Amino acid sequence: MSKHPLLAGLNPQQIAAITADLGPALVLAGPGSGKTSVLTRRIAWLIQEHHVPHHRIMAVTFTNKAAGEMRSRVEKLLDSKLRGLQIGTFHSTCARFLRRDAQILGYRDNWVIYDSDDSQRLIKAIVADLGFDSKENPPRRINNRISAAKNEMILPEGYQALSRFDERVARVYAAYQHELKISNAMDFGDLLLNMALLLKKSDERRKDYQDRFLAVLVDEFQDTNTVQYQLVKLLSAPQQFVFVVGDEDQAIYRFRGADYRNLLRFRKDYPEPAVVLLEQNYRSTQTILDVASAVINNNRSRTPKNLHTSRGKGEPIALHEAADEQYEADFVLEQVRQLRESTDIAYSDIAVIYRTNAQSRAFEEAFIRARLPHVLLSGFGFYQRREIKDLLAYLRLIYNPDDRVSFERVINTPARGIGKKSLGAFSDWVASEDLALSDALDKLYFDEATPLSTAVKGKILPFVNLLATWTEMAQPGGLGDLFQHIVSQTRYDLHLEKTSQHEDEALDRAQNLSEFYGMLMKADDSGQTLHDFLDERTLYTSADSLEEDDDKVRLSTFHSIKGLEFPAVFITGLEQDNLPHRNAIAEGKEGIEEECRLFYVGITRAEDHLFLSYAMQRRPFGGSSINGTSQFLADLPTHLLDGSPLTLAYLRQARAVAAPTHWEPRHPIFERKPKSIASGNQAIRSQFATFKAPQKPTLRVGSRASHKQFGGGLVIGIDPDGDIVSMSFDEHQLKKVFAEDLTPLDG
Ligand code: ATP
Ligand code: MG
Repeated sequence: MSKHPLLAGLNPQQIAAITADLGPALVLAGPGSGKTSVLTRRIAWLIQEHHVPHHRIMAVTFTNKAAGEMRSRVEKLLDSKLRGLQIGTFHSTCARFLRRDAQILGYRDNWVIYDSDDSQRLIKAIVADLGFDSKENPPRRINNRISAAKNEMILPEGYQALSRFDERVARVYAAYQHELKISNAMDFGDLLLNMALLLKKSDERRKDYQDRFLAVLVDEFQDTNTVQYQLVKLLSAPQQFVFVVGDEDQAIYRFRGADYRNLLRFRKDYPEPAVVLLEQNYRSTQTILDVASAVINNNRSRTPKNLHTSRGKGEPIALHEAADEQYEADFVLEQVRQLRESTDIAYSDIAVIYRTNAQSRAFEEAFIRARLPHVLLSGFGFYQRREIKDLLAYLRLIYNPDDRVSFERVINTPARGIGKKSLGAFSDWVASEDLALSDALDKLYFDEATPLSTAVKGKILPFVNLLATWTEMAQPGGLGDLFQHIVSQTRYDLHLEKTSQHEDEALDRAQNLSEFYGMLMKADDSGQTLHDFLDERTLYTSADSLEEDDDKVRLSTFHSIKGLEFPAVFITGLEQDNLPHRNAIAEGKEGIEEECRLFYVGITRAEDHLFLSYAMQRRPFGGSSINGTSQFLADLPTHLLDGSPLTLAYLRQARAVAAPTHWEPRHPIFERKPKSIASGNQAIRSQFATFKAPQKPTLRVGSRASHKQFGGGLVIGIDPDGDIVSMSFDEHQLKKVFAEDLTPLDG
């Protein structure tokens, strides 16, 4: 074994991969075999042994959090700070490059990123604008087609319409790209596509990037799609020092156009790559690996692998049958409690995995009631919450007043009496004159002639005034203040109470806002601009925002858990139609094989304790259905399982039976009923107190007042809500300012 400190403790295959000659290299290996670890050390090796300057290396990881971890590992290995080392996801990396270069493609500097929810809203609006029936042309389905086209680098003009539906998709796609451009926005797909277009379009920029990046490394290569593959190819030319690692059995992003065959394509596209196979697993017990192998061995068209570990046999896998999704959640809670009592496992060492986001609700509610710390890694996580999306939309509109989606989200949230009709009149005017949204808002602000009725104008103007004043505030160091003003001037506290079902929910949402305020304060401390802050928020999934020391149980879908490892893992919802999911079953063999890989990825996250569960009955969206157990359970070797004799016997029969076997009584703590919200609820109030702007002073027109920034002046107008005051300042011209920033000077 090598004496080199970077190679200490590694096996010969791992060493071969890390020390491979400069040039294309491919590492193929099963889960837990050290692919990510090897890639990390390869970066350090390039810097130390090949003297590649760290700012000329680019690495791509699957999440931004993984990127952060990789950076700190490399820094630790080399014992130095490596600021210019480019590590990120494909999306964040492209966003970063485009922040500098998007003008070449015709964007203005303050372009924003639309997340999938924003895209969906915009597509919905376009479907309506084009007069298409939204039932026959579901925006979600159209959105999927458009993303798929972008992943394949197909532009609207090149979109092949082979069916009537596709013809409509093509028209929506063209209109959608037009709207995005007017809104000065890119969706997730655009980040990758635009970067690839830029590299193809501008010889100069392509050469710059190619000169800059000597080496390109990609983790989880099996989940790259066409545009990502092209990006790697474009960026790594001409020297082709490209190092990729992957596992065909863990390909789970087919629905996003990922193609594990890129692993094979790599061997053709790059001349004589070094190929290394890793065999030893360092993560899981042999029992866990055996169960994983039994599951994946049913897939055809794969290279059979022998997963072995030096970690020993370990304990059997627990299998549990629950009556319904609530009992299933109770089971998880009970086991979490026991793990905490009988082992030194922390909450953050535990992951609960489910197939669909909808399943997270039962777990969240159970964890909230039992007051156990937990955090969602995916789905309706922090940044997807209504209140956070609302406040983000305010911030985005302030940053980019052309952002149509954000405007439509906040113009009447909280409700300010602007009905569909007024908004319709406004949109018609904007569309008929082909105005940018910001121009339309400016015309209102400066009271220019418009065809809008006085009534419509009167409704929208106060909002426009607020927006203009917030925009002035949006400076580095002032983002926390800005947030306070938005929350208190929109009366978001009242809105939040009104739109919550019960006290727990209102409190939870108020706490989310507190947390968001904390993030803005942090951004202020580090001098971040609004655009730094927004870019990060849109690109980061909630998994990325987790602090290392957050001791919380991780709740996640299979898709968001890949690459991670946990001492204890719960895989839930093992029912036919759920895993495999009914949509996948409808797709046939390919669909089911992808589901099988999902299950495999889930199982192989576990180090020591693995729990599998299914519910006899599940209530998706109000209905209730009785499912059989997942077909994958029939593949499990029963001698490796532990469960009630009935459950195991039932599994041996591997047949769907409507009658449940045995259920535990519910623990009283799960029965706590949600309380309704008393108005003026103290707990909620006190949450808001932490980020509420100061009280407004009493002012009247004609009196004098002093502003903290602009000095003394005369009050010449006050808007009906009393929020915004028009001032004639002694030292400056006329200005509209916030009432709370003024102090009255005379009685
Ligand atoms: P996945 O396919 O799930 O992404 P992976 O192949 O990327 O897995 P890693 O996450 O890099 O695997 O490694 C799995 C675990 O094994 C990590 O905890 C890592 O620190 C450990 N490990 C890797 N190589 C060795 C080694 N030579 N000796 C001891 N532990 C190792
Ligand atoms: Mg990995």
